[in-house]
Amino acid sequence: MFKQSKKIKKSAAPAGKKAAKRVFFFGSTKAEGMATAKTDKERRMILGGKGAGLADMTAAGLPVPPGFTISVPCCEQYYQSGRKLADPTKKEILENLAKVEKLMGKKLGDATDPLLVSVRSGAARSMPGMMETILNLGLNDKSVEGLAAKTGNTRFAYDAYRRFIQMYSTTAMGLSKEPMEHMLKAMKEKLGVKTDPEISADGLKELCGQFKQFYRDNKGAEFPQDPTEQLWGAVMAVFGSWEADKAVKYRQVEKISDLKGTAVNVQTMVFGNKGENSGTGVCFTRDPNTGEDIFYGDYLINAQGEDVVAGIRTPLKLSTLDTQMPAVYKQLCGVRKQLENHYRDMQDLEFTVEDGKLYMLQCRTGKRSPAAVFQIAVDLVKQKLLTKAEAINRINPEDIERLFYPQLDAASAKNAPKLASGINAVPGAATGKVVFTAAEAEEMEKNGEKILLVRKETSPEDVGGMHAAQGILTATGGKTSHAAVVARGWGKCCIVGCEAIDINYETKSMRIGETVINQGDYLTLDGNTGAVYAGQLELKQPAQPEAYKTLLGWCDDLRTIKVRTNADTPYDAENAVRMGAEGIGLCRTEHMFFDTEARRLAIQEMIVAENVETRKAALAKLLPFQRDDFVGIFKAMAGKPVTIRLIDPPLHEFTPKDDAGFQKLSEVTGMAIDKIKHRCEQLHESNPMLGHRGCRLCITYPEILDMQVTAIIEAAITVAKSGLKVLPEIMIPLTIDQKELKILVDRSRALANSLIKAAGSKLKYMLGTMIEIPRAALLADKIAEVAEFFSFGTNDLTQMTLGLSRDDAGRFLPTYVASEKDGGMGIFKSDPFQSLDQEGVGMLVKMGIQKGRSTRPDLKVGICGEHGGESASVKFCHSVGMNYVSCSPYRVPIARLAAAQAAIDDSAGAKKVSKKK
Ligand code: ADP
Ligand code: MG
Ligand code: MG
Repeated sequence: MFKQSKKIKKSAAPAGKKAAKRVFFFGSTKAEGMATAKTDKERRMILGGKGAGLADMTAAGLPVPPGFTISVPCCEQYYQSGRKLADPTKKEILENLAKVEKLMGKKLGDATDPLLVSVRSGAARSMPGMMETILNLGLNDKSVEGLAAKTGNTRFAYDAYRRFIQMYSTTAMGLSKEPMEHMLKAMKEKLGVKTDPEISADGLKELCGQFKQFYRDNKGAEFPQDPTEQLWGAVMAVFGSWEADKAVKYRQVEKISDLKGTAVNVQTMVFGNKGENSGTGVCFTRDPNTGEDIFYGDYLINAQGEDVVAGIRTPLKLSTLDTQMPAVYKQLCGVRKQLENHYRDMQDLEFTVEDGKLYMLQCRTGKRSPAAVFQIAVDLVKQKLLTKAEAINRINPEDIERLFYPQLDAASAKNAPKLASGINAVPGAATGKVVFTAAEAEEMEKNGEKILLVRKETSPEDVGGMHAAQGILTATGGKTSHAAVVARGWGKCCIVGCEAIDINYETKSMRIGETVINQGDYLTLDGNTGAVYAGQLELKQPAQPEAYKTLLGWCDDLRTIKVRTNADTPYDAENAVRMGAEGIGLCRTEHMFFDTEARRLAIQEMIVAENVETRKAALAKLLPFQRDDFVGIFKAMAGKPVTIRLIDPPLHEFTPKDDAGFQKLSEVTGMAIDKIKHRCEQLHESNPMLGHRGCRLCITYPEILDMQVTAIIEAAITVAKSGLKVLPEIMIPLTIDQKELKILVDRSRALANSLIKAAGSKLKYMLGTMIEIPRAALLADKIAEVAEFFSFGTNDLTQMTLGLSRDDAGRFLPTYVASEKDGGMGIFKSDPFQSLDQEGVGMLVKMGIQKGRSTRPDLKVGICGEHGGESASVKFCHSVGMNYVSCSPYRVPIARLAAAQAAIDDSAGAKKVSKKK
């Protein structure tokens, strides 16, 4: 009977399947959220980053004030049901509140001994200052008296109340911030005091009255006195802030699109503003600027919540806490160690001290400067907290890009007028026109101006303008202020706490001592030292930090695919070698024709030549130029392979562009201007990218091929004679057919061999082709019978496979790429000209390699399009068995990293397979 009824229940009510838990308790070493999901990432998607951190710290036995996390799915549901809290959610919230009340032995908003809570946002990924937090919830006209009596501190109680009214009215009820800030300021003036802590209890009481009056005037109702009503309002405010403009903007800027909402954390309040034995602080387990293994942070005595971050008072250095509160400092050092061992990464912590007792309020993976990224990763490996592979997998391509942001040139700074000095919050350097508002900063950046955003302090509303700026300068704040944290995340130069600057937003100008700087004037910031200079100083490339070199060295040890560079000049070649290039994968020879007037004229003479003899004569003028260029490049590469592509663009690109040009060419050739113009008009093509270009030029004008092959081989012979190794690879572009290629290869080989023989040299060289037209990929087996190597020119191959011109696709491609959420159609996951279309173009590449190696098993294969330096594309190239990728010099390290990550992935996959066996 019993059994049966159970069965019936089950089958009768599939919907009665126990609903998923929505609200998770944490307190006194127990955290329900620990088992919500299989992986840490999934858990964060439910609890949010802050909730997960609070659960972890609670479970680890750290002193965390108890509370509960209202999970992300509740936020999703809030929006689905038209901004309403679902009843089951409300019920679970009240159950959890009761748990907290029981644990604390207090009731929310009780008249004699009130429990007070904070209501905090927390999405899966940290969005600094993006979402509103409400502190001291539970206070009302009665409980504030209870709090005063219980603590024997009326001043404290009313300070907490005035903060609560401020936060609740603005974030939950939508009143504007300025009027109450104004009343606060006016109160200080009236009492003749400078800082908030100096306002007396009576002053604060009066202020609370003014705030409530302000609320009444604007809302036509009393300030909410019922604690539960306050709680619903606050929870909905946090959910609502997920769609606030600044949060939406931040997600856009940071390209965060996979998050569904924020969690809400309701947590017992602790008070850092109870007096001299209390305080609040923010710290990092390592230095976020250098990565050095030191305890780093800021704190304020007798302060609450946002005071440190908002930069209202300039905070103290964490190291002084050791003398001010030695026991607390020691305990905090223990927390530092424990959390680093747990997360195996640098953490960013928030703590509060109430009457000498430490409480932990937040931990998350800390944002860090580009240099610190590498220092920390390398140190964690040395400290055996990470393996080399794990350290490599933690690095993102952007970390490398940011590392090469400019620095101030020491020589140019030496005699420059230094105007002021602030706190060096984020290293690097920036120069640009001063702008005082975020909106104008965005506007000016759109017009192509380089600008610096200068503010008293920044707030989440300013992120758009901060992002648009080259660098950021604020008058107040410490290294953990909003400006510093946000800028650090972007690796953007930032100076804070520059107290010497006196900004007048109305006149759009600022005073630094005697100097007046107006909007639009140039300044230069040195984020390394904190110095602010007048004018536009020179910036230069930074040196490569040791830790970066170490980590990329590990990448080189692990990766199996080689990394080359695209370089046309000895300068680029040398630079690329410094960045780790192992050869040149693409040297474009036509750039050499534009270099000087003499060269330009010679190629133009060649173009207008009316017969073979004059064409040869013109080419003979170019030969020594090209030979010298190649000598320079071969020397710079010192024995590393160099792939040189023969002439590629259609000839009309070289013709004179104006009358002076025609005139000059006429003088040199002795031809009439009209005739020259006529010849140039003849070159006009209606679709030049598909016209007479690439190897088609050498088919019709074999003299060009002869000249270029001669220049390459003679240069190689010369360099080889000087004792250096040379490995030239002659590459024929745009091939479509085996016979076409054979004509060119045979002619090149005959010429090269005769030159080598005549010089008595033993020079080795290779002849190969680019695969950049679908037909060549389709017939790759035939082409490989003639070509000794393939290089996939994926720029053209993408254009021709998709039938989209890279130069014209800008008009509609953004719509294809942007997701539906961002107003696009979401047809492509990413721009196929930036990240290889692995599905379509990739299929041709894969097939080309397989077919090519079917007739020439040792066929060497590389890629030389823009994709060769893009992380996902490099990983693809690894997976299809290419020998190398080639990319522009600054992307060489990105390719080295991606190649190593691909190799690590492979071996992890292989391990999994062997385990299964
Ligand atoms: P954010 O996401 O902007 O960091 P937080 O939720 O961390 O916002 O809260 C803002 C400030 O309020 C922080 O300084 C935090 O330490 C403080 N705070 C939050 N909850 C409490 C609490 N229960 N007791 C004391 N201070 C708190
Ligand atoms: Mg915080
Ligand atoms: Mg091409």
